[in-house]
Amino acid sequence: MDLSEIISAVQKALGVEVDGTAGPETWNAIYDRICRRKAGPRRKTAEAESAPVREGARNRVDDRSEKAITTLLPQAQPYARALVKKAAQHGITIKVIAGLRTYEDQNELFAQGRTKPGRIVTNARGGYSNHNFGIAFDVGVFEGPNYLDESPKYKAVGALGMDLGLEWGGNWKTFVDEPHFQLRPKWAGDMKESVMLAELRTRKDSGNGAYA
Ligand SMILES: [Zn+2]
Repeated sequence: MDLSEIISAVQKALGVEVDGTAGPETWNAIYDRICRRKAGPRRKTAEAESAPVREGARNRVDDRSEKAITTLLPQAQPYARALVKKAAQHGITIKVIAGLRTYEDQNELFAQGRTKPGRIVTNARGGYSNHNFGIAFDVGVFEGPNYLDESPKYKAVGALGMDLGLEWGGNWKTFVDEPHFQLRPKWAGDMKESVMLAELRTRKDSGNGAYA
């Protein structure tokens, strides 16, 4: 089963227009469904209904991307895979090159360009990046085997990601981060980023997942 068949199956189950193209409606519906299943009482049909989602989760992309994607929370993984596939459909090769970072990893990265050599790549200390909660990932654009640090293609990928329902770092004002995507938890609504991160830290401290 390829991705478009999976999407069609999900769309059919949802009763939305079946066109095999994953738009925000389809992906948000998948997301809602996963969250509802976790939050609410288990319904008798949940097993059958979630089959296309699990099928999608198994629909692997390239090995390098998979290595990063599998560090993400299960809810975010299908979005990352979908973005890789969607970009490929548009003739753009991307790989997911970063996923989850521990607070320690984040502090190391924060030191870069400040107390350690290199250029500044983040304004976030440990606990202040969505990467610390398994809901954010970075992509790299490739041409053949070559990784492109800068390319207009990042903007195109940004548009594709937003179409999937992801937030794109290219829209950020204080630190434009075109390779960055994140899946905002539903409870966060249009909460300020700093408020959302505070809640994410609280959840992590109390052992609750970002999407719980
Ligand atoms: Zn990032």
